[in-house]
Amino acid sequence: MFGSTATAEPVAATKAYISIIIDDLGYRLHDDLRAVALPGPIVCAIMPHAPYSAELAQIAFQQGKDVILHQPLEALQKNEFLGPGALTLDMTEKEFLDTFDSNMKSVPHLIGINNHMGSLLTQHPGAMAWLMGSIKRNSLIFIDSITSDNSVAAAIAHEENVPYLERDIFFDNVQNTTAIRRQFDKLISIARIRGTAVGIGHPYPETMDVLSRAIQELDPERVQLVGLKSLHTHRNGGIRKWQMSSSHSLRVVKSSKQ
Ligand SMILES: [Zn+2]
Repeated sequence: MFGSTATAEPVAATKAYISIIIDDLGYRLHDDLRAVALPGPIVCAIMPHAPYSAELAQIAFQQGKDVILHQPLEALQKNEFLGPGALTLDMTEKEFLDTFDSNMKSVPHLIGINNHMGSLLTQHPGAMAWLMGSIKRNSLIFIDSITSDNSVAAAIAHEENVPYLERDIFFDNVQNTTAIRRQFDKLISIARIRGTAVGIGHPYPETMDVLSRAIQELDPERVQLVGLKSLHTHRNGGIRKWQMSSSHSLRVVKSSKQ
């Protein structure tokens, strides 16, 4: 542009941001507590109506972790693993919304929802519109675990103006430490290229071993582990679109020694 002068200000090195979600919490207290004790602002995805749902949510919240509901959604197969509180395509709108409401009440302090399974239901715009409508009314965020390549969650979330994120990496589809470490490194590569990345793991001992070490080895000047609100802000170019209502007010995740 005419008249502009080049400035000699140093360009800050681009910093990358990652979020890590641990799924399927609520059934095995001993394993789950290891997940909650991972260092930094990791995200605890807690199943509805599980024996330890409320207890784990309380502990996670007290330790400055993000709590989300790990909502079972009907899959194309293996639906015997959905567990209580599943949302299925045969439900009426009232059954669907009442079930979802009851699930949200079983996990205190939640700030968002991600899906457990869901390879069938996330493909269905009608059911996903019911789900996103409720998520919007409760001022929550939706994180698509991406269990189907044909998920319509992003489109429906956009239509409903629901804050939305999606998973980039599963850490532990192969449950050994070498494979899990490789997936963690892949998460970092994605974050360096795109600026942000979201990884999902499970409370397996191998996953906990790899993550606890890898998180502590991060150089926070280059790659920072952050909670969902921060990740969402960075993924959307620093524009803060996610306004939480007072009933689900987000606390700022403070850095801690956890
Ligand atoms: Zn799950």
